[in-house]
Amino acid sequence: MRNLALALAALALASTASAQQQPATSVAVNPQAPPAAAPISAEQQRTVDRLRAAALESDLAWNIVEDLVTEVGPRLAGSEAEARARVWAEAMLRENRFTNIRTEAFTIPYWDAVREEASVVAPTQQHMVIAALGGSPSTPAGGLEAEIVRFPDMAALEAAPASAVQGRIVFIDERMQRTQDGSGYGAAVAKRGRCAPVAQAKGALACLVRSVGTDPHRFAHQGGSSRQSQGASLPAAAVSPADADLLARLAARGPTRVRLNIEADIRENAPSGNVIAEIRGRERPQEVVLLAAHLDSWDMGQGAIDDGAGVAIVTAAARLIRDLPHRPRRTIRILLAGAEENGVHGGAAYARAHADDTHIVAAESDFGAGRIYRFRTRFADSAAPYGRAIHRQLAPLGIILGDNSASGGADVGDLRTAGVPVVDLGQDGLDYFDYHHTADDTLDKIDPEALRQNVAAWAVFAYLAADSDWSFRASE
Ligand SMILES: [Zn+2]
Repeated sequence: MRNLALALAALALASTASAQQQPATSVAVNPQAPPAAAPISAEQQRTVDRLRAAALESDLAWNIVEDLVTEVGPRLAGSEAEARARVWAEAMLRENRFTNIRTEAFTIPYWDAVREEASVVAPTQQHMVIAALGGSPSTPAGGLEAEIVRFPDMAALEAAPASAVQGRIVFIDERMQRTQDGSGYGAAVAKRGRCAPVAQAKGALACLVRSVGTDPHRFAHQGGSSRQSQGASLPAAAVSPADADLLARLAARGPTRVRLNIEADIRENAPSGNVIAEIRGRERPQEVVLLAAHLDSWDMGQGAIDDGAGVAIVTAAARLIRDLPHRPRRTIRILLAGAEENGVHGGAAYARAHADDTHIVAAESDFGAGRIYRFRTRFADSAAPYGRAIHRQLAPLGIILGDNSASGGADVGDLRTAGVPVVDLGQDGLDYFDYHHTADDTLDKIDPEALRQNVAAWAVFAYLAADSDWSFRASE
């Protein structure tokens, strides 16, 4: 009886395995067939199916982000609130029964706006909603007042003679394009970093930029500016989209004077840190699959979509894997990075501290909580079948396979540069920049259903990468 059962089980395994190898066979016959995916075992298939189903039923991620934004709230890099977030994170990771939980401390240049006010003073008087850009110095005490000079984009400012700019407040009115993959951000964000140094070189007094965002609302979008990279000492702020519209209408009518008052608290060597936890691999513990998100946030909103959601997604995905009867072969490591927003300090500190670790693959969840629609890799060509094997298990979640130029995310950028393979679990970001870095980044912007789909995709990806012996690098 027992032998018969074993034989039947072996038969079932064999037929599953041959079914999975089907596409490889059909490539030779039919050149239109999809390219081969690496096979996975029947047990892995059952585990993936179980993980996917469990994630789609799970409230784990929602509970994590709800707790973070309720108990800690906004957590500016280097602040007391960010320190509380690290304490919260360690406790949360202990509660979820991970191992090797620790904080790896580092220090950063601290910046916070104690005051950020602007108003039109002539030819009419109107209050404006602004956000001082991260790193902006203070204006002279009591603020400064000057005529604005409007430019449609950075190129127009760069082409302008100094005589058009000197003694004025530069206003860059460039708009951001709404795109599904967030590709409008890179172009729009350039003005946030470059306005101050370019305007300063031409003798301007301050810099205002139309908020880097896609909404029409009266929220200003925070963001880093130039202190970290270019050493500009010009006060700089983002104007809410509605107030940028106002400035544009006034500038079209004639001379417009604006008063700007920024008071910044700037300190060196503020404390920050990365919180790390692991599921130790059962066979190859020294090989690491890195799942990242960042713990800090800007401080006008709650840091729910940026990046409380990411913290919740990667942690919940790992927790589902932690609950499996067998740990995966390789180690899964969670990195909750500190101080991403004001210069990706956490990602840089991690890459320095762990340069000698064997990273199999790395990825960060840092684009809100929209449904994942595309899986991209940055693998060696020889590893393409592994990328397709992972994608095949993501496809039931409505995810397409993209190209091989994944970025991985800001906090794994230094690892990527050092040659670590990365993937993007690309979220639908059509509305992400409506809320990003604003007072409106709050818990209600997260759709619990989409959050579960994210957890399912991360769990499937992380499990397959960790329970295999696949190398995503070029073989030596
Ligand atoms: Zn972020």
